[in-house]
Amino acid sequence: MPTDDILLVLRQNWGHQAFRPMQEDIIRSVLAGQDTLALLPTGGGKSICFQVPALARPGLCLVVSPLIALMKDQVENLRKRGIKAEAVYSGMSHQEIDQTLDNCVYGPVKFLYVSPERLLTDMFRARVGRMKVSLLAVDEAHCLSQWGYDFRPPYLQIAALRELLPGVPVIALTATATEQVKLDIVEKLRFGPGHRVFQQSFARPNLSYSALPTEDKLRRLLEVVRGVGADKTSIVYARTRRQTEDTAAYLQQHGLKAAAYHAGLPSDQRTRTQQDWMENRIRCIVATNAFGMGIDKPDVRLVVHLEAPDNLEAYYQEAGRAGRDEKYAFAVLLHGPNDADELRRRTQQTYPPLDTVRRVYQALANFSRTAVGGGELVAFDFDIQQFAETYRIKALDAHNSLRTLAREGFVQLNEAVNTPARVHIPIDHHDLYRFQVANEQHDKLIKSLLRFNGGELFSGFQRISENSLAQHLKLSVLDVRKTLLFLHRSGIIQYQPRQESPQALFTTPRYDADKLPLDQKRLLQARDLARDKTEAVIRYAAGGRCRQQLLLEYFGELDAPACKVCDFCLAEKKARQAPAPAADLRQQLLTLLKATPQTPREVLTHFAPGQATAVTEQLRELVEMGELKYAPDGRLG
Ligand code: ADP
Repeated sequence: MPTDDILLVLRQNWGHQAFRPMQEDIIRSVLAGQDTLALLPTGGGKSICFQVPALARPGLCLVVSPLIALMKDQVENLRKRGIKAEAVYSGMSHQEIDQTLDNCVYGPVKFLYVSPERLLTDMFRARVGRMKVSLLAVDEAHCLSQWGYDFRPPYLQIAALRELLPGVPVIALTATATEQVKLDIVEKLRFGPGHRVFQQSFARPNLSYSALPTEDKLRRLLEVVRGVGADKTSIVYARTRRQTEDTAAYLQQHGLKAAAYHAGLPSDQRTRTQQDWMENRIRCIVATNAFGMGIDKPDVRLVVHLEAPDNLEAYYQEAGRAGRDEKYAFAVLLHGPNDADELRRRTQQTYPPLDTVRRVYQALANFSRTAVGGGELVAFDFDIQQFAETYRIKALDAHNSLRTLAREGFVQLNEAVNTPARVHIPIDHHDLYRFQVANEQHDKLIKSLLRFNGGELFSGFQRISENSLAQHLKLSVLDVRKTLLFLHRSGIIQYQPRQESPQALFTTPRYDADKLPLDQKRLLQARDLARDKTEAVIRYAAGGRCRQQLLLEYFGELDAPACKVCDFCLAEKKARQAPAPAADLRQQLLTLLKATPQTPREVLTHFAPGQATAVTEQLRELVEMGELKYAPDGRLG
């Protein structure tokens, strides 16, 4: 549907009546073929900025995105609107990736989402040149910068990808970027001359930020939640899984509809809790930062942090989930007397000694049974607790070493995402029929598969439900899986079992741990950067200025006016309305009594009860100075 009527594209596909501020300018820049950087706050409507121009032009839009959950969300959203979208990520089988990429070369696919480490694989490079790519979109573009808070080295490969796509414009999008990160994105993505940068202010006028010092966080939390309204939607961020559960239990005991959410819970429970919260059966979700990405609930009235994240980028994003409907909402950080030191200590720990990092790398190779030189991009199930116990590594060391390895581009850790089982039948009807006749014991299952999914199974991978098959065939789910696996091994079907555990993978061929090329200088730089970011968080919590201004300055907006709604601005306003200082009060009394003489008792009725002492004192002083005199009837004038 090539058209310049982008408003029509928006209305027809999304049903939105108009563009939000800046969306249209961004889209026009992309359509004019200019490399474009779009900085919009969370919830600002970034996806539309690349999806609309992609639909307005023939060809395919390649989207680089760092998180599987985010990709799946977007692909599903597009498909719901009848737009063909595909995704390629680790955890998919070689065949499935192969087929998806083929669809993008030969089929009418409009959007292909890829994780960055796929970009330079041979399989991808061989195909991408043959796809009719019209636009390259780089989502969460701050991941490309070492100065950002979430550096993903594979993002740097996008520059090389651009060489395979000459003349294709790029649009980079992010919700957080400091000046340094902006410059980095433009440079590392090799933006062409005439490129455009659009930045919407990150100010959130309807969001009241506060940071409350407290020695009893749970009690304070309860007060805050009740203060905003126990029947309102809220998110409480905690740092550990344990803390989410304890806090949710505490809130429940006090009669609130609260529930815990973290990556360690079974996936169906997580889905249910999230659903209950989305549909207002649960009002307060107490979560680790695993919760929130890709969630779009407009009426969140309150986001509380029981502990500060270690950088303001993360804080801004998480707090920013409040008040997306642009109505008044609150972002509250609770901080205890030792929090600043604790935060510093944690940041320090995030950078374990290099020996530990190497030891963890070696353990990971043993855990996954990966030989030197092998294992590149092959995902394996990875339970960090089990890993740490097996190799007697302290959980914290394991966690931080793996983070270092991920940041340096040697391994990747994927959050648990629930991927349903999928099946494709690669042979034709006749061959399948012959197999069914010869293997009667499997006939029923194959028939059920076809009955549930139809002929689509022959053209590509389809989601199947192992549970429904088991119910229908009166077998256990385990038996169904075994049979599917058998058929897979026999080449009759291609079967991707359901996945729901976190995964890890090596992003390079595995090194000998001793020869792992860790860049000491860069690691030290990263540590210093992390330390600076932590100090910025501590300054934010300490306050002393408008909190919105503090945040905006961090993101390079230096001239933002005071927000008037944060705790600091409100306290200032209150101070201004407080009892007038002595000189003002004296003037006020003189004006009042020169106009209408009255008794001290009558004078007091003009003032708030709290001011009585000050008023009486000023009256006495004015009489002593001779400015006021008593009349015989007791009135002052
Ligand atoms: P971001 O990625 O910037 O956080 P999204 O692209 O997810 O934001 O958009 C946030 C929400 O705003 C979505 O529900 C989206 O449908 C909605 N939205 C985006 N653009 C518009 C628009 N022009 N009019 C109305 N709603 C919009």
